[in-house]
Amino acid sequence: METNQPKIKAAILGATGMVGQRFVQLLSNHPWFEISALTGSDRSAGRKYSDACYWRQEGDMPAAVRDMQVLPAVPPVNAGVVFSALPADIARDVEPEFARAGYIVCSNSSAYRYEDDMPVMIPEINAEHLALLDSQKKKRGWDGLIVTSPNCTTSGAVFPLKVLNEIFGLEKVFLVSMQAVSGAGYPGMPYLAIADNVVPLIEGEEKKLELEPRLLLGKMNGRERISAPMSISAQANRVAISDGHTICLSVKLSKSASLEEVKAALLSYAWPEEIKQLPSAPLQPMIYREEADRPQPRLDRNAGGGMAVSIGRLRPCPILDFRLVAVVHNTLRGAASGSVLNAELLKARGFLG
Ligand code: NAP
Repeated sequence: METNQPKIKAAILGATGMVGQRFVQLLSNHPWFEISALTGSDRSAGRKYSDACYWRQEGDMPAAVRDMQVLPAVPPVNAGVVFSALPADIARDVEPEFARAGYIVCSNSSAYRYEDDMPVMIPEINAEHLALLDSQKKKRGWDGLIVTSPNCTTSGAVFPLKVLNEIFGLEKVFLVSMQAVSGAGYPGMPYLAIADNVVPLIEGEEKKLELEPRLLLGKMNGRERISAPMSISAQANRVAISDGHTICLSVKLSKSASLEEVKAALLSYAWPEEIKQLPSAPLQPMIYREEADRPQPRLDRNAGGGMAVSIGRLRPCPILDFRLVAVVHNTLRGAASGSVLNAELLKARGFLG
């Protein structure tokens, strides 16, 4: 995009929440987008953003949004792109209203993720799934569109899985997640439930983790997405970490491979050049840590500005073939930054502005 082109106006739905505040941070100084509207629930609508929103990010609330009036989450808004950080049950009604009214909606919610005509996008993984937008337009008759981001844990797991699936084929994946408290939004779990504890239940999460990587790694057949055929077994846990999800993966490959071959594939994978040019893309979307005890959420969640997934501890698995560990920043790559990257891809491909 030319630097002298005007920025595209961006609305944030759910701007007062955990992910919404991340959007405010990221879009306050974005080269292509500028914040033009913020929405909240009845609790916040009509109030000044600085009154309605208890700022829970590092650093101050950006000065440019402090006096903006929080709007109800209904069209019209003054925007060319709409970022949605709404709870899924609210998004189910609100996001289509915006798409119907002609807006390009980049959603973080799971409301529409599992529908055949919805791209569940990570630009480095499956940019070709934008072809689904033709089917979406035909099926829904909207002037706008919805592109969704995957669940935060999927956003980390899918990077090594993409490489392994493409180079060796994946038959089985066993996945155990240790998910940060911020993944549940604010206020999240009560301190007395999570302090000094691991809670082995995140409602609905395991189903998402068993489905979403298969969607992301699916192949396009014309305008149809065929899910990747691997089977996935997931166990999701909430742990006493503020930000950053850790994922332990064991995999069974379709082709036999040595540890050295698997490591070489993970280290040398050529991520798409087109995506590296986008403003929010990290130089390296996946970083291989050689240290015996990495990755760790506190040390690795902010790699690549929170956009790089860190992996390590690759070793043989006595039950399947290999095992490894991944760490992803759940509210950046796994939520707001991931959606902003999707919007950048939409802009670069001519869907926006
Ligand atoms: P959150 O902190 O609870 O924020 C929810 C936001 O939605 C708030 O701005 C809230 O506004 C607004 N809202 C609630 N009810 C509404 C209504 N009836 N009408 C209009 N706005 C309403 O949640 P979050 O963690 O940011 O998550 C937002 C979405 O992102 C969810 O779908 C979640 O699953 C997804 N997600 C979260 C993460 C993560 O790591 N947290 C990662 C990936 C995806 P008020 O403050 O005015 O009530």
